[in-house]
Amino acid sequence: MVDLDYYEILEVDRDATFEEIKKSYRKLALKYHPDRNPDNKEAEEKFKLINEAYQVLSDKEKRALYDRYGKRGLENQGFEGFSHSSYEDIMDFFESVFGGSFGGFGFGSRRKDEKYPLDLSLEMEISFNEAFFGTKKDIEYEYKVPCNACKGTGAKNAEFITCPECAGRGQIYYRQGFMTFSQTCPKCNGSGKIAKEKCPECRGLGYEKKKEKITINIPEGIDNEDRIRVSGKGNIGVNGERGDLYITFYVKEDEHFVRYNDDIYLEVPVFFTQAILGESIKIPTPRGEKELKLPAGAKDKQQFVFRGEGAKNVRTGRVGNLIAQIKIEFPKKLNSEQKELLEKLQESFGIESKPHEKKFENVFNKIKGWFKG
Ligand SMILES: [Zn+2]
Ligand SMILES: [Zn+2]
Repeated sequence: MVDLDYYEILEVDRDATFEEIKKSYRKLALKYHPDRNPDNKEAEEKFKLINEAYQVLSDKEKRALYDRYGKRGLENQGFEGFSHSSYEDIMDFFESVFGGSFGGFGFGSRRKDEKYPLDLSLEMEISFNEAFFGTKKDIEYEYKVPCNACKGTGAKNAEFITCPECAGRGQIYYRQGFMTFSQTCPKCNGSGKIAKEKCPECRGLGYEKKKEKITINIPEGIDNEDRIRVSGKGNIGVNGERGDLYITFYVKEDEHFVRYNDDIYLEVPVFFTQAILGESIKIPTPRGEKELKLPAGAKDKQQFVFRGEGAKNVRTGRVGNLIAQIKIEFPKKLNSEQKELLEKLQESFGIESKPHEKKFENVFNKIKGWFKG
């Protein structure tokens, strides 16, 4: 068997940070999670590899060993990876990484005979200040309940016949060259049976939709693409069990404030004379206003940090900083008086006002020498 590179498996660079590795792991683990890829051997194998790669690259010591000596270096230290592990071991590891953490995963409770997953996901757009300070929101959404008429089976009177497509096997086989491949029967989704007649109440879907209104608490500091779980507000299964509702938030951009991690960035326009002379100016912050003391000779793009004026991290509770970055602006037009004043100003600096002359003093002659044949 060919050993794939752990960095390639996780689709990250060799110098990726822990955060980048975790982010990519999360994305890939979601994509290849067995619940999302039922009866897909390839996805299962990939899921296994992703978890193995993450187990190594998320651990400083294992990663260093792997970087220097490869997989063999790890094996010499007794690390076996997941190549001989059971499905349960891998799921245990996966859940140890994300299970119970903020956000969690929106699946895991689907049973083979359910027509739909019990967990439900929604997306919601909120404004910058709603995310920054947290808020309460009333939402109305639809969830699924089993169709009463067919008891969630989708079949009229719950009557089934053997699937004609796969003759009840649940799998269909096809040959390509000398290989035989199998896949889950698309007609019966692997159950081997289909409805004798579709349930007229739900048109064979097996469920009906119900509406519910709830109030959700959006915690202070929630960031773009963060997700919260509302326990017991998902779909209802045939056995009466109810899944969870997951809400992913998308935070609208603010005109002035830009969030990056827990820091908030603010661009502050500053006139060139203010930057040269220095001045104390008032700037807005999400929580009010602050005094920005521009030093004389402030530079374009110079940053000023206001500790503890950023966003609150929903996981750690730590509060980030506000970073004010100045943007020096020059006059677009000059009237004659201003022009005169500036010329006077320039003169008063003497040679200092012509730094190019000093710098290039000898260069002109030097260049001329280069062209003499
Ligand atoms: Zn029905
Ligand atoms: Zn079938």
